[in-house]
Amino acid sequence: MPTTTRVSFEEDGDIEYVKHQSIAVIGYGNQGRAQALNLRDSGLSVIIGNRDDKFKARAISDGFAVLEPQDAVQKADIVFLLIPDEALLKLFNTTIAPILRFGQTLVFASGYNIGFGLLQVTAGTDVIMIAPRMIGAGVRERYLTGEGFYSFVGVHQDATGHASETLLALTKALGGLRAAVWMNLKDEAVLDLFNEQAFGPAFGRVLLDAIDVLIANGMPPEAVLIEMILSEEMATTYRKMAQIGLIRQTQLHSHTSQYGAMSRGMRYIGLGIKSKMQTTFEEIAGGQFAREWQGKTAKLKFRVIRYFATRQKINRIERQVRQSLRLKIWEEDVFPEDIEALLQSPELKDDEELHRLKEMSEL
Ligand code: NDP
Repeated sequence: MPTTTRVSFEEDGDIEYVKHQSIAVIGYGNQGRAQALNLRDSGLSVIIGNRDDKFKARAISDGFAVLEPQDAVQKADIVFLLIPDEALLKLFNTTIAPILRFGQTLVFASGYNIGFGLLQVTAGTDVIMIAPRMIGAGVRERYLTGEGFYSFVGVHQDATGHASETLLALTKALGGLRAAVWMNLKDEAVLDLFNEQAFGPAFGRVLLDAIDVLIANGMPPEAVLIEMILSEEMATTYRKMAQIGLIRQTQLHSHTSQYGAMSRGMRYIGLGIKSKMQTTFEEIAGGQFAREWQGKTAKLKFRVIRYFATRQKINRIERQVRQSLRLKIWEEDVFPEDIEALLQSPELKDDEELHRLKEMSEL
């Protein structure tokens, strides 16, 4: 069943289109480094904008000219904004917005700031999104192997009338035309947040519950963690879903497994997960989440959540199992906090979820 979604592929982009334009990549972190290297290897002229620190040193050792962000923006026709979304807002408003020229192109790797109306760009600038569905290291690796990666792309503002051509040329130069799905910037942000806030945590809860049930029933924790996580069997199954299909991959498992999974699978229908996900979707799409995360209460709550996350039972079990299996033991993450003071702060003292989190943790 064909859809009306616009999808672009390799043959739709022409790198020549941006060959004579200068590019500044602001930020040299996960995405910044990978994208800058890919653009340069595609024959484009790239400089980096970064403060004087370890990221700058890395860019220099990779052979790039590095300027202060505002100087790089001034020199460039195309500006990739590749710093964390929350930091970008401040840098953009204080340093970048005042010096933008007519006809420059701004490239965002996420629709968050524009999509939720947190950041506005003056009318004379092209604003496009090239959002790789891949971490930075993968963006680079898949460019080098020629495999490419999927991306979500969109034009938010087309001042020059040529924003789409620029977008396709740049996406091709990055290696992102394995298939580029066009969508508006807000939808990209909503989809991304939904995955993080609905699917991710629901899946995590299922995993933790399964581990709990098995250990409570006397299974050796080593075997449980190997079965559920360490063997990477689930990761392989997930890869097979991508390669041959969600249901078709079940044929790679035994008949016993197929029968057991599908017959027992029915038990988990109607648990109310979908309605919780719908609520989460509405909260994101309605902008409540973005507004919440802008505020002081969310920043305080985040510190409490992070503190208790490192004190969940699973951390202790994992450490014991890793020791027993002679795996590398990672240094414990410590987030020192005066936790009682935080919990009693006027913003958080009535937050029942946080108090439940405390009960579930090992102090
Ligand atoms: P990183 O955390 O890796 O960015 C680090 C870079 O940002 C460094 O160069 C750092 O340099 C700079 N930076 C951080 N804070 C500031 C600041 N306050 N002012 C100026 N520069 C700052 O970011 P990512 O690569 O993870 O994310 C970049 C963009 O890519 C975001 O929009 C993100 O949503 C998007 N994205 C990320 C993906 C990922 O897998 N990570 C996937 C797809 C999209 P310094 O501290 O020296 O200033």
